[in-house]
Amino acid sequence: SLILAFETSCDETSVAVIKSGNEILSNVVATQIKSHQRFGGVVPEVASRHHIEQITICLKKALQTAQVTYADLTGVAITYGPGLVGSLLVGITAAKAVAWAHNLPLIPVNHLAGHIYATNFVTPIQFPALALVVSGGHTELVWMPKEGEFQIIGETRDDAAGETYDKIGRVLGINYPAGPTVDQWAQSGQDTFDFPRAMVKEDNFDFSFSGLKSAFINTVHHAEQVGETLNKQDLATSFQAAVVDVLVTKSLAALQQYPTKEFILVGGVAANHGLRTALQTAVEKQGVPFVMAPLKLCGDNAAMIGAAGAMLQRHGARADMLLNADPGLEFDWEADAAR
Ligand code: ATP
Ligand code: MG
Ligand code: FE
Repeated sequence: SLILAFETSCDETSVAVIKSGNEILSNVVATQIKSHQRFGGVVPEVASRHHIEQITICLKKALQTAQVTYADLTGVAITYGPGLVGSLLVGITAAKAVAWAHNLPLIPVNHLAGHIYATNFVTPIQFPALALVVSGGHTELVWMPKEGEFQIIGETRDDAAGETYDKIGRVLGINYPAGPTVDQWAQSGQDTFDFPRAMVKEDNFDFSFSGLKSAFINTVHHAEQVGETLNKQDLATSFQAAVVDVLVTKSLAALQQYPTKEFILVGGVAANHGLRTALQTAVEKQGVPFVMAPLKLCGDNAAMIGAAGAMLQRHGARADMLLNADPGLEFDWEADAAR
């Protein structure tokens, strides 16, 4: 198969051409981070406008780099949720236009399935598989009993892990997205602050990060009020220790309950050094292979949407011209039920 894939769910405009679901012929990513930085987060209206400006440019570049024409394609994969509605619509409209004009099947892809399938470029997924998806908008444990079936077994009740990094980074004066800098500082500090680990003792696989966020912000504000200077590296190390502790504990608990041949770590926060190291060690200690997406495919990109799209197309996923954006798209999906 030769799939043209679009991804515009958030603040990256991306178009890719993917061969056989696991070979990248092109993967053009136009990021808008600079435009959103001065607002401290993604501004939906600004994001939509950038997507409109970038989408045709990215499409042309993706086809050109891959050295393919529309006649070579076997399908058009598109992220239709979850994400920002105005952003999703730009990609959906472009994908529909190409599918309509060239009589190609339109394959609807869940953004999270895309993140998980970024590992397909490393090694084919072994089922049953368990995935931890950690990004700016999501923190989910997903169990995949077999190919084409996704079950959410746990998720965040409030803030996502990446969002928490971005919010505590702001009080440290770090530009959006703060994750990479907090991660870097965390490598050189000491774990001296005792931040809370929410829900680790509860008998479920859900997460909560808002308590940790508040504790962190209160600590910094209190110090400012009394004129005390806190060590930023130590703050970052202590914060990261709490996040990693919770993510690892819950992942191991899920491993105990769900038969797993392969553990997958994906999403923007999978780039985190502390998390990668701790989780890999813990998972492999259980005798379970640990797989990550290549670093450059951890953030949003269309290559991963093409990889998931190839699998979904094999399982009969197909959309028509009425396909709409679904900002709160649920993830539980089963191939046989969709047919
Ligand atoms: P979603 O995929 O949920 O729609 P998104 O597009 O914001 O949301 P990604 O692009 O996958 O998510 O990831 C971006 C997030 O990852 C940001 O919150 C960013 O701070 C975080 N992040 C990136 N690198 C690191 C890192 N090294 N450590 C921690 N967080 C990181
Ligand atoms: Mg992003
Ligand atoms: Fe994402």
